[in-house]
Amino acid sequence: MGRETPYFIPLNEAVEISKIRKINIRSEKISIDKAHRRILSKPLNALTNDPPFDNSAMDGFAVIFSETTNPPNKFKISKTVEAGNKFENSINPGEAIKIMTGAPIPKGADSIIPIELCELNEEDSTVTLLQESKPHFIRKKGENFTLNQTLLLEGTYLTPEKISLCAAMGYSEVEVFKPLKVAVIPTGDELKLPGEKLEQGQIFESNTFGISSLISWLGHEPIRYGAVIDNIDELRKTLDEAAKNCDVIITSGGVSMGDRDFVRKIMEQEGTIDFWRIKVRPGSPPLFGSWDNTPIFGLPGNPVSSHVVFRILCAPWFRSLTNSSQPSENKIRVKLFEDIKTVPGFLTLRRVSLFEQDNEIFATINHHQGSGNIASIALGEALTLLGEDHSGKQGEYCHVIIL
Ligand code: AMP
Ligand code: MG
Repeated sequence: MGRETPYFIPLNEAVEISKIRKINIRSEKISIDKAHRRILSKPLNALTNDPPFDNSAMDGFAVIFSETTNPPNKFKISKTVEAGNKFENSINPGEAIKIMTGAPIPKGADSIIPIELCELNEEDSTVTLLQESKPHFIRKKGENFTLNQTLLLEGTYLTPEKISLCAAMGYSEVEVFKPLKVAVIPTGDELKLPGEKLEQGQIFESNTFGISSLISWLGHEPIRYGAVIDNIDELRKTLDEAAKNCDVIITSGGVSMGDRDFVRKIMEQEGTIDFWRIKVRPGSPPLFGSWDNTPIFGLPGNPVSSHVVFRILCAPWFRSLTNSSQPSENKIRVKLFEDIKTVPGFLTLRRVSLFEQDNEIFATINHHQGSGNIASIALGEALTLLGEDHSGKQGEYCHVIIL
């Protein structure tokens, strides 16, 4: 690491430095069936009006409003119009047309009476309206959106609701950013895969499973590697292979000050480091740079730290590649139920639970806060964002990321 390499810097500085190392993401056209959690690379304009025609919002009778103002009024039921009806229907004075939800409004009708407000006489095919109708229950052509309207911008993260909107706009395929292949490499002699038998001194490798899920959440493709033992040659081999096959590398473990923190060592000797260590708790050890021209994040090994650092450091970098702020974190403002330990000058992310009392949402610590305690984040409900000069005192407010 060169003398001038930024060291132990605030998170926002680290994020800004990381964003300088850009990589291009290509676009691809995919079926909307496959579009969940992908990011639009082109805006979408509606290919139709929605609804495309005036239609009934209720099951009931289409009538002429002015004929219903002195109830009760009796009408001849002239026909039935169902959803999908292809014909031009029209209403004559004195008639009521039985109509189903979604069916086109017959020409001349301007009001719908819900079936509950009618007295039906099957024998002479008449209906008596007991109340004056109201000129509503008609869904007007284009009232939701109009032909050519731009509804989804470039950078939109496709959630289930937005995918339905794409379909309603008339798109069977959409252009999205091609997922980056992201190598996720755990390091450590002590790591065993879940399902294997633990021997003395070993633990289950858990970090890369959560990190991979976060990568999928961001719309990219995680490639999870087996654990690399703490050996510089093995690490070099794996990093070389990852740089060849993937667009981005994320490692976990081995970036602290220990003798066996080989990720930091090999990056110092053979890679490029843009910064090392950031002022956040937990999770201060990460590094960022490149290995063989491939951007690399070296995340801490402690499970909470690696997860937290991914969310606050890696996720903004991935979003910047698509010029998007999505998928964003859900943040809310809460009141501290008790004192929470902060570290002056650091961003402090504690795992908290939330509860509501006296119209306020409170954050309380109810899990052991060790950075090795993955249960604290998995069972917690939120992560505090206690800024560098926050006192952390009971009764103060802060923002939290909802987990
Ligand atoms: P390190 O940064 O390599 O010193 O690791 C810090 C702590 O995190 C150690 O207790 C490791 O055993 C643990 N750790 C490292 N990698 C993982 C992993 N992939 N899954 C779970 N724990 C890990
Ligand atoms: Mg280690």
